[in-house]
Amino acid sequence: MTPSTPPAAQIVCVGSTMVDLISYLERMPAQGETVFGRGFAQGFGGKGANQAVMAALLGSRVVMVNTVATDSFGRDTIENFRSFGIDVEHMAQAPDSYSGVANVMVDPSGDNRIILGAGANELMTLEQVDGAFAANPAPALVLSQLEVPQPIIERGFRHGKDAGAITVLNPGPAAPVAPGLLALTDWLIPNETEFALLFEAEFGRAPEDMTTDGAAFAARLGVRLVITLGEDGANLVHEDGSVQHFPAPVVDAVDTTGAGDAFCGGFAHGLAAGLDPIASIELAVVVSADSVTRRGTQASYARDEALQRLLA
Ligand code: ATP
Repeated sequence: MTPSTPPAAQIVCVGSTMVDLISYLERMPAQGETVFGRGFAQGFGGKGANQAVMAALLGSRVVMVNTVATDSFGRDTIENFRSFGIDVEHMAQAPDSYSGVANVMVDPSGDNRIILGAGANELMTLEQVDGAFAANPAPALVLSQLEVPQPIIERGFRHGKDAGAITVLNPGPAAPVAPGLLALTDWLIPNETEFALLFEAEFGRAPEDMTTDGAAFAARLGVRLVITLGEDGANLVHEDGSVQHFPAPVVDAVDTTGAGDAFCGGFAHGLAAGLDPIASIELAVVVSADSVTRRGTQASYARDEALQRLLA
């Protein structure tokens, strides 16, 4: 597999940033109760940020379009992108908000409860998106998720289509997708929960079979579809309606957080670099399986020698 095919192509990611604040607890607090945490971790997250980082680690030139606040989380988020060589010219800072945060509580069984504070992510503007594409008029691919407002994503995808770029939408967290946005989407990459929600909205029933129902959904919506299936890997619906299954490598999973983002970032890098969809999914499956062998989201992504070994 040769994912870092030169020259590195450009990806514009119109997506979210969050700072993950993760408390490890003996048990979840009851209503009105205060409990001591048993451990704490802070990390950079947000689906957009995670996917941008994975694509950049693999060699894509990534432009990140997002809004943080003028607080320390916002400054650190921008600095974190710089450390990966990600273009932050179109990161905005809103003074009267807070940077996106994910408050995560994890109990010893691994069960978690998450409060997302989108904050400044909600303050992205159409003008900001226009500016990013005026400065980067010919990207290979535009990548997005559902943690920023859909009209913002739609504007990014519109620019992408006008420029002949591939558009890739990871429709998470699970939510309905506006028809106008779907119409601009080339590749849809849901996990099983996200697929079930979109399928039910379209067909009025829950999906029963990820293969036949996946093919029917892709045909009706006119999108290319990849459904991620956790430790079972992923399914690709081909243009002729046939479905190809990609098993996940068997690994010692310690933390699956961020695996879906590793998959989407790896897939986007592959397509942007000119790999075909099959090779792009093979790459995505490898980097996402590897990510579950380490704790954290971005922190779990292979880099340097570990990444070279993985791709050798
Ligand atoms: P998450 O929310 O945990 O980031 P997700 O629900 O968006 O992930 P999944 O379908 O669970 O997405 O996982 C994405 C990809 O990660 C899978 O298609 C697979 O390639 C890989 N993956 C996830 N879990 C495992 C595992 N236990 N072993 C190997 N690969 C895995």
